[in-house]
Amino acid sequence: MAYRPETLVVHADYDVTDDKTVAPSIHYSATFKAADAAEFAEMSEIPQHPRNYTRYGNPVHERVKKIMAELEGTETALVTASGMGAVAATLLTFVEAGDHVIGQTSHYMSTTRLMDEMLRRFSVEVTFVEQGDPEAFRRAIRANTKFIMLETPANPLLTLTDLAAITAIAREHGVLTIADNTFATPLNQRPHDLGVDIVLHSATKYLGGHHDLTAGVICCSHEQAERIWKTHITLGAVLSPMDAWLLLRGLRTLPMRVERINANAQALAETLEAHPKIETVLYPGLASHPQHELARRQMRGGSGIVAFSVKGGYAEAERFVSLLELPLNAASLGGVDSLVIHTAAMWAGTMTPEQMAASGIPLNALRYAVGVEHIDDIKADVLQALERL
Ligand SMILES: *Cc1c(COP(=O)(O)O)cnc(C)c1O
Repeated sequence: MAYRPETLVVHADYDVTDDKTVAPSIHYSATFKAADAAEFAEMSEIPQHPRNYTRYGNPVHERVKKIMAELEGTETALVTASGMGAVAATLLTFVEAGDHVIGQTSHYMSTTRLMDEMLRRFSVEVTFVEQGDPEAFRRAIRANTKFIMLETPANPLLTLTDLAAITAIAREHGVLTIADNTFATPLNQRPHDLGVDIVLHSATKYLGGHHDLTAGVICCSHEQAERIWKTHITLGAVLSPMDAWLLLRGLRTLPMRVERINANAQALAETLEAHPKIETVLYPGLASHPQHELARRQMRGGSGIVAFSVKGGYAEAERFVSLLELPLNAASLGGVDSLVIHTAAMWAGTMTPEQMAASGIPLNALRYAVGVEHIDDIKADVLQALERL
């Protein structure tokens, strides 16, 4: 029976392991014993065996993989120790020296670095294009292009990528597409349904949902999983059984949390937009978002990140953060607690002032990663801070 997401996050993994417990067991073991020599030989031969050696697989990994494949609509999934573990294992599987790859001008910063610094160091050619223009991807494709890396919505300005348009172009040219779906979650956006071959997640964010674990997920076909798995076990970014278990626990409530977070973020974005001390608000669910039509086509909800700027400059943005009483001033997103950052302050550590200016990040920009608190408390807090600003 095909379950809806709310049901499958609770039930999809019941038959994956033969635990007799109702709650999943943690299987805190680095290695697993065979009954006899024949079974040991068999265990050693089967890729992704869930009970051989935990770097290769673990029963808790199997449960998470089952739920994630169902949520994203792919044949299977792999789990890694972090989102970057998923990005690295995937990207490094599909290129060799002399190949060309395409990315967006705006990606999660470490993804940009992996492509811009590491892939180039291994003689892979890399082109970054403006994600808002599908035709720019077509123009960038060459005979030796191996994949297009996508991410939507993307930091720091919540620009969207038209997944259906770009995957159609990629297919014409036989180019693989990979999309980082961390910001949207499979509840708000299913890239595979729109033609994307491989869907990646930092499960550290919404999937885990409690700011207490670091993990990554790769959703793909069986054939792709077999190839990526070989890279993954060689790189060694292995998800610990405990973090896999916490992720499993987080996934049970993902649809409820995302539903609440979508509603909270939409209401917060509308409140901010109506306030005279606010300069701009960028949120895919607002009619004023430059790609609102695309958001309506490819997303079911706007997700939890609201990018906005207060009138003034660096100092006003910094002061606004200090006046907020509810959200914690911390990086990351997707957990039950609301977090807020002064965007320029976070990027300043890793970018020169020139790079900051080129990336289009205003000095008064802020990012509010909405949690599951009551919306009236979130709004009242923002309004009191704006009042005192
Ligand atoms: C956080 C994040 C990553 C990296 O994930 P880690 O779990 O921190 O390694 C990759 N992509 C996006 C969009 C992210 O937000």
